[in-house]
Amino acid sequence: MVDGGRLWRRLSELAEIGRSESGGVTRLSFTDEERSAKDLVASYMEEAGLAVREDAIGNLFGRREGRDPEAPAVLVGSHVDSVYNGGDFDGPLGVLAGIEVVQAMEENGVLTDRTVEVVAFTDEEGARFSFGMIGSRALAGHLSSGDLEHTDGDGLSVALAMREYGLDPDQVDDARRGQGSLAAYLELHIEQGRVLESEDLPTGIVTGIAGPVWLRFSLRGEPGHAGATPMDRRHDALAAAAEIVGAVEEEASSSTAAVGTVGQIEARPGGINIIPGGVDFSVDLRDIDVAVRDGVEERIRERAEEVCARRGVELGIEELQRLDPAPCSEEVRSVISGACEELGIRPHSLPSGAGHDGMHLASLCPMGMIFVRSKDGISHNPEEWSSKEDCEAGCNVLYRSVLGLAGRG
Ligand SMILES: [Zn+2]
Repeated sequence: MVDGGRLWRRLSELAEIGRSESGGVTRLSFTDEERSAKDLVASYMEEAGLAVREDAIGNLFGRREGRDPEAPAVLVGSHVDSVYNGGDFDGPLGVLAGIEVVQAMEENGVLTDRTVEVVAFTDEEGARFSFGMIGSRALAGHLSSGDLEHTDGDGLSVALAMREYGLDPDQVDDARRGQGSLAAYLELHIEQGRVLESEDLPTGIVTGIAGPVWLRFSLRGEPGHAGATPMDRRHDALAAAAEIVGAVEEEASSSTAAVGTVGQIEARPGGINIIPGGVDFSVDLRDIDVAVRDGVEERIRERAEEVCARRGVELGIEELQRLDPAPCSEEVRSVISGACEELGIRPHSLPSGAGHDGMHLASLCPMGMIFVRSKDGISHNPEEWSSKEDCEAGCNVLYRSVLGLAGRG
């Protein structure tokens, strides 16, 4: 069994790096805070007896050789970067639990057939460049040189930030791992929702990671005098947008796992006495089933066209991002399920609405995730909380799952 006290102490220590006055954690990629966090994690990896290295994109690895060093390794981990003013658990729990698992193996004299590697990925959150999962994209060969042109709030690109950090952006291809080089990728993460809380369970088994589609709707109507234009002569872009926002909510609600959100909206010219002539708004659609998600999107597009035609408003839709959902591997899910049963935890499966590095790893190897109960489902917030007992339970599920995937020697 793992040492839950040690895991908790390390979580608390790591959370002090980037701690802000308001109590949250801000650790953006390629900053001094991220460097300090990775240095601390590297020191834990060394305590656990792991061979430590960093790759060309800054992903930090700790390696414990298996009996067969030629066999594909089992990769376990998460990220140590955070959003602005985030919580203590999102990311660090998975990295530190991975280290705890191999340290417990070391202390218990447990050998595995396969090598086990623990990873702290670079920039999962995308808080700095509005572009995330940089480390896992590089690992899976999904990072293009154009991706390194994304800029932060000061106009500094990923490539330049990498240089300042001491990495060479021309070498990112070196971070790529080949097909067949990994036996599995496994991540422990907080749920960031309320399902496990309502099921009264410390941990759950992720079925798949929902893939987001991001769209920008641009509506062009006709601005006019709010007092002088009769209601039947109007081409009000905001009234049209209101109908479409309603359609997004209705269509997403028509499927069990789909979610749809309009998070940004801007009306122009923005006067209290002017009919809005132009409106831009965002749509975020997700489901773990690509066909369901695309069906919801199709119906929203059809309804938007109908609304705009009826109101004499021009409609433009731009696609900003389209990521495929990533189903978790059946094999990995069944290993996690067996681990839960051994520990007396009822196996419960649930989807992940939030994105994770596993989305990119899924194209390289079988991928799975274990969720730990989140208090009130709160995340990306200083109030984010999972209990010490739940973190320990999740880490024990991870321990047994890694044994199952790496093979007890
Ligand atoms: Zn995370």
